[in-house]
Amino acid sequence: MHVLFRLLLCAMLVQPVLAAAAPTDGSATRHGGPERSLAEPVLRLPLQPGAAPRVALTLDACMGAVDRRILDTLVAERIPATIFVTARWLKHNGEAIAILKAHPDLFEIENHGRDHLAPVDHPATIWGVHAAGSPEALTVEVEGGTEAIVAAGFDRPLWFRGATARYSASAITRIEALGYRIGGFSLNGDGGSLLGAHTTARRIAAARDGDVIIAHINQPTHAAGSGVVEGVRALRKRGFDFVLLRDAEAAASAPLNSQVLAQ
Ligand SMILES: [Zn+2]
Repeated sequence: MHVLFRLLLCAMLVQPVLAAAAPTDGSATRHGGPERSLAEPVLRLPLQPGAAPRVALTLDACMGAVDRRILDTLVAERIPATIFVTARWLKHNGEAIAILKAHPDLFEIENHGRDHLAPVDHPATIWGVHAAGSPEALTVEVEGGTEAIVAAGFDRPLWFRGATARYSASAITRIEALGYRIGGFSLNGDGGSLLGAHTTARRIAAARDGDVIIAHINQPTHAAGSGVVEGVRALRKRGFDFVLLRDAEAAASAPLNSQVLAQ
C-alpha cells in the first residue's frame, strides 16, 4: 500500500514539458531544432510524508571549466550534489576532480557522455548541439562517458543524462538496455546556465519537495552560477535536505525512473 501510494504520487506529479522551454544545456541559439519529436524525461524523488522536504541537486559539467563559486560552497556548507560529467570535462579539470574525490560523501559522479552529443540516434541538432546521430554512435557516447569516469577513479555510473536532456524514444530504450537510468529532472534551475543570477536563485529557491534540480557547474563566468549558490542557500534556510540520486534510489522501495512523456 505504501509503495503504491508513493508511486501514485510520482505519477501524479509528472508534468508536461513544453517544447518552447528554455534550453537545459548548450547554446542559446537554436539551429533548426529537432526534426522529430523528442522526449524530455521528468524525474522526481518519491515523497516521504512526515519527513523534511528534500531535493536532489544535479549539476552538469558539459565541457570547459569548473565553477568554484558553486563547488566551494557545496564543500564548505556540506551540500550533496550529483555531478553529471563528460569525458571532455574530465580531461581538463584535474583540480576539480581531486576535490570531488576528496568528498565522496558529498558528490556522486554520473555520466553526461563522452563528447557531449545529444542522445538522439538519428541525425539532428538540438539547441545547437549535435546528436549522436546513429544507434552505434549513441552507444559510443554513453559507454565512452563511463570509461572516462572509471578511468578517473570514480565508481561506475548508474545514471546517464545526455547533452540537451532531450532523447529520441529509441535512444532511451538503448540507454536503458545498456544498464543506465535516464537522468531526468523536474526543475530547470539555470536555463542551460544562461539565466541571470536573480532568476536562477528564485527558481531554485522555489523548489518543491521531491524536485530534481538541474543546473550547471562548468560556466564560471556566467551570472547563473552565483544564482545557483544563492538558491541552494535559500532552500537550506527553508529546511530542505539535499540527497544524492544514488541515496534516494537506495532508500526507495522501487527504482527511481524518469517518467517519459508521450511523444
Ligand atoms: Zn551538458
